[in-house]
Amino acid sequence: MNSSNSKQPSKFTRFLRNNAALLLLIFCVLAITAVVLAVTLTRNNTVLPDDPVSGNPGNDEPGDVTPGGDQPTTPSKQKIDVYFKSPLEYTKVGLEYTYGPDHLFVWKQTLNEWSAHKAVDLHAEEGTEVTAMYDGTVIKAESTFNNGYYVTIDHGEGVIATYASLKDLEVKAGDTVKQGDVLGYVSTTAECEYKEGPHLHLEVSVNDEAADPMPYVTGQVYRTIEVEVEA
Ligand SMILES: [Zn+2]
Repeated sequence: MNSSNSKQPSKFTRFLRNNAALLLLIFCVLAITAVVLAVTLTRNNTVLPDDPVSGNPGNDEPGDVTPGGDQPTTPSKQKIDVYFKSPLEYTKVGLEYTYGPDHLFVWKQTLNEWSAHKAVDLHAEEGTEVTAMYDGTVIKAESTFNNGYYVTIDHGEGVIATYASLKDLEVKAGDTVKQGDVLGYVSTTAECEYKEGPHLHLEVSVNDEAADPMPYVTGQVYRTIEVEVEA
């Protein structure tokens, strides 16, 4: 009786002994599988934050700051003031500008009358060169009884000057002139002023309004222009 009871545990123990290796192997496989799963899951979680770190090449180009350094080598523009200058070397001012509410009439010897003089007479010896006060375009180069031979030049910005009582005109209508170019020579060809003696009769208008020529003659009027300057 005892022998049969005592045989039961020994049978189970024998089963464990016979299959211990198998059980250990199964346990190990399960353990390894668990470790592999754990490592894989952990790695998937950590891969995501790695990507943004490696994939942002746009920040690596601070070299774009340098193009501004090229500018000093290119021609630069500079503003300069260019003044009108006297059209001749005159010895005296004859008839003055007498147009407008603040001006009186002047005595005109040739016409034997007092009247307005929308010009200035600049006296000089017969044959003295008369030059352009500023760059411009010749509008007229002809003669009339009153003006004699004369040249009218558009000096731009609404300023038109008429150089009258000349002889031997050196320019023609349509010519482009530079400041200082010879237009003609002082004479007495203006019939209405010949008794005043040889002189340049100079008229200036600004936007079709008569203006005093003296500020132009004496170099008080200027234009600001842009010129290119090598660096
Ligand atoms: Zn005059």
